Amino acid sequence: MVRAIVVREVPSDSRPSRVATLEDVSESFLGDGGTVVDVAFSGINYKDALALTGRPGVVRQTPLVAGIDLVGTVVTSDDGRFAPGDWIVLNGAGQSENRHGGLATRAHIDAALAIPLPRAITPARAAALGTAGYTAALAVSRLVHEGVSPDDGPVLVTGATGGVGSIATMLLARAGFEVAALTGRADQFRDYLTRLGATSLVDRSELSSYGKPLQSARWAGVVDAVGGAVLANALAQTRPGGVVAACGLAGSADLPTTVMPFILRGVTLAGIDSVWAQPGARTRAWDLLSRDLDLDVLDSLTETVPLEGAIAAAERLLDGQSHGRILVAINPD
Ligand code: NAP
Repeated sequence: MVRAIVVREVPSDSRPSRVATLEDVSESFLGDGGTVVDVAFSGINYKDALALTGRPGVVRQTPLVAGIDLVGTVVTSDDGRFAPGDWIVLNGAGQSENRHGGLATRAHIDAALAIPLPRAITPARAAALGTAGYTAALAVSRLVHEGVSPDDGPVLVTGATGGVGSIATMLLARAGFEVAALTGRADQFRDYLTRLGATSLVDRSELSSYGKPLQSARWAGVVDAVGGAVLANALAQTRPGGVVAACGLAGSADLPTTVMPFILRGVTLAGIDSVWAQPGARTRAWDLLSRDLDLDVLDSLTETVPLEGAIAAAERLLDGQSHGRILVAINPD
């Protein structure tokens, strides 16, 4: 049997609702993915927290095994890149959306978007980084690729105490950028963000109500995990030629902006999609994480829970009671 967290539709008086529970399912429940993986680790990202608490927006069909990330060993594979016993990493690629995901002891995956575990990173750390870390790396790579350099000025990171924000802060600081960390929890997490490499903190309230279309130009670049008014104000505060990497919607999916930052300052709004990024982009992002991340600091911001603790951890994440990364140890030995 496979131990898995399964999201199911349950009858309810009003509209159908979803519930995630830890269950034993048969291997046939996992379907026909061409690569069978013994999962060692997964993690809790924002999207996992939504799925595990029955909220809409992630799971598109039920029943479905939750978990947008997995790290494990290959049992069998129809993909010539992988042999039995190889460590494999799969982030996104439809897991927990319309394909069974990684919060299970075993997974049947399409390995086309999987990559070999990077040599410099242990399986646990790769899962601790997970989609959040890999997305942060995609965003930082995008800023650099678009020409933003430390000499151009500070970079703003929003949702800074979260998974994407924490790792982006570390990567940018390591690359020599001055990092301004925008957070709603400056009192509680000043030391934490400073330890990650933030050089200044910006209170979320400064950017959370809609401001002028063009404001004092402060940022050479932005990594945004929040969306909404925060993203609109970040765009309005970006320096001429600057780049804003839009990664998330932890605050809102809205974007109440104008064209002014684009047509008067040449600002670029760069979208980041980790789910369907191609293997080359994935490998480059993981190379950046392998090369530039202080893995001891990563350990210090990682909380580890067993599979049985994943749903409670998801609730804590959405309640704003956690920070950094949550690693799910499924079969750690
Ligand atoms: P997370 O660990 O929960 O962090 C989100 C952070 O956003 C929180 O720590 C908090 O930071 C801030 N925040 C929370 N609620 C907020 C609100 N109502 N208004 C403003 N800020 C708020 O989540 P994550 O895993 O880093 O993911 C962040 C976002 O990126 C999510 O929307 C996620 O879906 C998205 N994402 C997208 C991709 C992609 O492929 N584009 C990949 C990964 C994640 P402070 O307390 O420090 O303010």
